[in-house]
Amino acid sequence: MHRALRRIYDPLISNSINKTKQCCFTIRVKSTTSEQNDHRAKIMARGLPEKKPLPGVKSIVLVASGKGGVGKTTTAVNLACAMKVIEPDKEIGLLDADVFGPSVPLMMNISGEPMLNDDNLIEPLLNYGIKWRAKALPPSCGLFSRLLRQAAWPQEIVFFLRSCTDIICNCAIVVTTPQSAALQVTKRGVIMFEKLKVPIIGMVENMSYAICEKCGTKNYVFGNETKTAAKEMGLEIIESFEVDHNMSECINSGKPAIYALPDSTHAEKYRQLANKVFKYIDSKDNERIKITE
Ligand SMILES: [Zn+2]
Repeated sequence: MHRALRRIYDPLISNSINKTKQCCFTIRVKSTTSEQNDHRAKIMARGLPEKKPLPGVKSIVLVASGKGGVGKTTTAVNLACAMKVIEPDKEIGLLDADVFGPSVPLMMNISGEPMLNDDNLIEPLLNYGIKWRAKALPPSCGLFSRLLRQAAWPQEIVFFLRSCTDIICNCAIVVTTPQSAALQVTKRGVIMFEKLKVPIIGMVENMSYAICEKCGTKNYVFGNETKTAAKEMGLEIIESFEVDHNMSECINSGKPAIYALPDSTHAEKYRQLANKVFKYIDSKDNERIKITE
């Protein structure tokens, strides 16, 4: 596992890359650390780096959570898949920068090594029509955004699982659970987004409640304060997902719920969520067109 995480695929690291070969290297940790420190020092010297768009990508949606273990990756994977199901012609991608989080390749049954395309860009790996790329590097590192710019990304929408210091995110979705600890951390995250002027589409609540198998009663086992907290943050809860044990099976089997259990309540909710995200992105696009007209 650790060896796999250290592997990095990039033509920048070596000039000896040959298109017929797979672009896979073992990173020299020493040089990365010094490059990171270098970059950090530069940032400190001149303040925050200027954010730029990712060339060729129309919208970057940040899927964020203040706290780990709230189902951020599951949300991003299923949302991306649902959007692909609804609009198969749209190119959708996922960027996973969370080295320690649950793994997108496991959830989406992605394997293999990225290759270079004719334009000398790294072709992200693909499954269920979703392009995926992982970066086993901290996003604050200068190398990270350089690597990002070297990938052949989809034209339409890319979901980021972690923000990048110098890439503009067009909007964000905040994932939380009803525990007060999670909500508190989420609040801090929302304040940060406001400072960074990243508009938030809304809040997705996971583990909202558990339904009793015998009587169908909703049990708010993790608390029931999300509504109040969302109101305080001025956010809309765009979807709530109850606890469903079938979902963890989907995660382990590498088939997202959208495909494994298309008739489930969760799959239907992910499709509704996907439609809301499309609607939001389209309205933002229209606003932009109006401004430039
Ligand atoms: Zn009951």
